[in-house]
Amino acid sequence: MKTKISLSNSHLSGQEINYINDALSNNELSFGKNLDVFQNFLENYLGENKKVAALSAGTAAIHLALIMSGVERDDEVLCQSFTFSASANPITYQGAIPVFIDSEKDTWNMCPYYLEKAIQDRIAKGKKPKAIIVVHLYGMPAKIDEIQAIAKKYSISLIEDAAEALGSTYKGKQCGTFGDYGILSFNGNKIITTSGGGALVCKNEEDKNRAIFLATQARDNAPHYQHSEIGYNYRMSNIVAGIGCGQIEVLDKHISLRQEMHHFYTEIFKKVPGVIVFNELNDSYASNHWLSCILVDENIAGFSREDIRLQLAAENIESRPLWKPMHLQPVFASYDFHGNGYSEKLFKKGLCLPSGSSITVRDKERIKIALNNII
Ligand SMILES: *Cc1c(COP(=O)(O)O)cnc(C)c1O
Repeated sequence: MKTKISLSNSHLSGQEINYINDALSNNELSFGKNLDVFQNFLENYLGENKKVAALSAGTAAIHLALIMSGVERDDEVLCQSFTFSASANPITYQGAIPVFIDSEKDTWNMCPYYLEKAIQDRIAKGKKPKAIIVVHLYGMPAKIDEIQAIAKKYSISLIEDAAEALGSTYKGKQCGTFGDYGILSFNGNKIITTSGGGALVCKNEEDKNRAIFLATQARDNAPHYQHSEIGYNYRMSNIVAGIGCGQIEVLDKHISLRQEMHHFYTEIFKKVPGVIVFNELNDSYASNHWLSCILVDENIAGFSREDIRLQLAAENIESRPLWKPMHLQPVFASYDFHGNGYSEKLFKKGLCLPSGSSITVRDKERIKIALNNII
């Protein structure tokens, strides 16, 4: 059997071990210098005077963003339907109710038209939603100008799920810095990793401190253990942050390697009718191309995305259908959805192709041969 080529692998710089050793030899396991270095790096990288709290997961960051947006039991939260379940799950942790919004065709992300429709519908029914969760899926920036304007117009908190979009920009500004809160993920398959981890991007020091307070069991300022609020155990450890410190050295390299993979697929499918490689709409958008995706129109191409997936699988090359929208998921089926079904089309026709920064020239040859077999 040929070695497996994965969709998106962890890719170490080799420096991680030094930061971990540092933490161990200084007996700084939970808190310490690595956390400071990692958070400072992210703050400088994102710019816009943002403050960053490193956490145990991107999912934890979304949960805290909802809490800090004042989301409580029975409140409604507008959430992009076309996403990974981690965007929506924390809404239910709060006992709140998701309202799912369809995608538009340019960015595949939240459709501003249906977002506003949904807000007006909920207001007409006597209940203004508490927060909006927009996602920059696959690294592609959403129509964030329009979505931000709608959030402002109706005074609704905007949470930006940039878990897949570290390094992506819209009009030169980093994804994760547009919302009231931004969230990042450093899960093993993301553009850089801490093994598992995430971050909450905050607009000021006060919010960052509040996030850290909530993430460390909400301990009041007292010599004994005193609690006036329910807290969580969501902090990133200093050991884990050490992996992040090693990874920040290769972030830019990882981004350009992922963009190169996107270029590789663009060339392969350039003259193939019925196959579209997902690309930026115009120069305002700059995707990190975390995953390269294609849409296959079977009637024109003469083969389906499943044909491609199976052909690749036979060569031990991993590919995966695009995210199944949340409003189609059994666990969320009972919730409200606003849209015209574009995300369902994406799910039916779309495929993610191997996109990791550690894919070798030989891997690319294998991928190319397998794809050419079918096209
Ligand atoms: C990975 C991911 C998350 C969750 O991040 P974790 O760190 O795995 O909890 C949230 N949203 C999207 C879109 C993701 O891809």
